[in-house]
Amino acid sequence: MIKLFRSQPPTSLDKASVATLTAEYIATGNSVWNRQSIKKFLLKYSNNKCAYCEENISTTSNYMEVEHFLPKVPYSHLVVEWNNLLPSCKRCNASKGTYDPAVHGVIINPADTYPQRHLYFSNLTLRYRDDVGERMIRACNLNSTDRLFLVRSELHAAMHHSLERTRSDMKAFLAGDTSFEKEQMIVRSVASMLKSAGHERPYAAFLATSLLSDPTYLWLRGELEKTGLWNKLDYLEQSAKSVELAP
Ligand SMILES: [Zn+2]
Repeated sequence: MIKLFRSQPPTSLDKASVATLTAEYIATGNSVWNRQSIKKFLLKYSNNKCAYCEENISTTSNYMEVEHFLPKVPYSHLVVEWNNLLPSCKRCNASKGTYDPAVHGVIINPADTYPQRHLYFSNLTLRYRDDVGERMIRACNLNSTDRLFLVRSELHAAMHHSLERTRSDMKAFLAGDTSFEKEQMIVRSVASMLKSAGHERPYAAFLATSLLSDPTYLWLRGELEKTGLWNKLDYLEQSAKSVELAP
């Protein structure tokens, strides 16, 4: 989970439309929030990711749901209130269900709160710093073994593979193969790993945390600094750092 920066509401949710749609929902129970104009705006500010688990939700096989941070019951007056809507995957939305922070306890609305304050990663597991974090993990099942553990484990294995390959290239570079080609291969590889942990990428918080604390990554970073190749990578590391959920 990363901090999201909510955009302005779409024009289809101007004051008059919100009043009309809310009245329609209260009268009929219709899913008045299920509109492309709303979904498109939500996906845009989350970079096509679920606000809770960071899964990509822009594909046809894995489409998004409009999640109501405060549930439709009893908050029927907020069913199309922009600040109450979040883009979510099916599973997080279903798991959270009718969770009402006023009744069940405060959880994280990533469009309002920095998740770093309440959560951190320890290996493949998302852990909590406080009750807010604990309730958040439970509400959306953010350590589900059949889904998120599996994904994290695969991402970690792929990252480890890239790091080991780059470490070999760096060893060769330090041993005398200082060709421009070798140098570029190393820089591109580290850049690619850092980009995959950027805020706009799926599972950025997990990838950023894993990568930035990895001993091989830290060694590579040190060697790149010594050889003067680090400078152009620094802004990518800063981007990854901004979403890291470090202990
Ligand atoms: Zn999700």
